[in-house]
Amino acid sequence: MPQIYASLTVDLNAIVANYRLLKERHAAHHVAAVVKADAYGLGMIPVARRLSQEGCHTFFVATLEEALTLRTAMPDATIYVFQGIGKGEADEFIGQAIRPVLNSMEQVAWWREAVRDKTAHAALHVDTGMCRLGLDGREVGQIDDPEQLVQDCQLVLLMSHLACASTPEHPLNEEQLALFNEVRSVFPMLATSFANSAGHFLAEGFHGDMGRPGCSLYGISPNTSLPNPMQHVVTLKGPILQLRHITQEQPVGYGATAMARPGMVLATVGLGYADGIHRIAGGEGLHGYIGEHKVPLMGRISMDMTCYDVSDVPESLLADEPYVTLIGAQQGVDTVAEICHTIGYEVFTRLGARVKRVYV
Ligand SMILES: *Cc1c(COP(=O)(O)O)cnc(C)c1O
Repeated sequence: MPQIYASLTVDLNAIVANYRLLKERHAAHHVAAVVKADAYGLGMIPVARRLSQEGCHTFFVATLEEALTLRTAMPDATIYVFQGIGKGEADEFIGQAIRPVLNSMEQVAWWREAVRDKTAHAALHVDTGMCRLGLDGREVGQIDDPEQLVQDCQLVLLMSHLACASTPEHPLNEEQLALFNEVRSVFPMLATSFANSAGHFLAEGFHGDMGRPGCSLYGISPNTSLPNPMQHVVTLKGPILQLRHITQEQPVGYGATAMARPGMVLATVGLGYADGIHRIAGGEGLHGYIGEHKVPLMGRISMDMTCYDVSDVPESLLADEPYVTLIGAQQGVDTVAEICHTIGYEVFTRLGARVKRVYV
């Protein structure tokens, strides 16, 4: 193991604190965890294990493959797959007790056929205004015997997904709620799930019987125009590979887009766009931190490295702490995302596999 390496420290206790806050906010105090995309890049299994110690036993992933991975670690968990079943996949779901989210009449038909005389459960997804997945209002209207459908498919959950929950004043929220309530009246026997992270911060009518947060568990703000109520979870650090004392003006990095001046001290840090540092952040004001010292990025972001101006950092600190922190307490994921013209979700899910995950 090399002495110094790029690391992503995940504070599992902070995830737990965020889970508790979401649960407290939720009208029914019942909250599942969305751990798709490897728990937004942070590590699905360690995150799910820790949350299960906290009494979270229901998890949502995007694909069957993710569900199978989670199942090996969590034999008793309730696992839902957002993308539902592909043709011929139902038996694999049934065999592993994985619950599909049924998104179309086609998936409903495959599932109905496969689960005859077997025990299995599923969720039904209705689209209430996002045009992504789920039955639309017309399809729901064409179901002539909802009770029979629930029985045949062994449905246990009715869900829909909010498109604009992070913008509370957006009129689509109320429209989606009204439509969801209509569909609820067709399926009064089903438990409901409506709120993503941001939905927990809308009125209670949006919560349903079970919350379904992802991003806010991981510290991403549910509403970036308000102060972030979530605890910060991730610290991303890159190792200083080399220090260079500049004696004459010289260009830095590809394209020679930045100039180092005499007297500057530059640090070459082992984190680049292959590690998920969006290349666009070069020249957009992304800084790193060494202790409390803000260190500006210099020049372009390379695949594996980036240079920082560490002239103002005391030498003793550079020797003791040969790392630059890119995401951390001083510069949270939402700030980094804004600099990169994106959202925290994309920053996290693009973090490279070679960055060592450390769990505390
Ligand atoms: C990803 C996802 C969630 C979680 O959303 P966050 O905004 O991360 O809380 C919930 N429901 C569905 C259908 C999703 O795809």
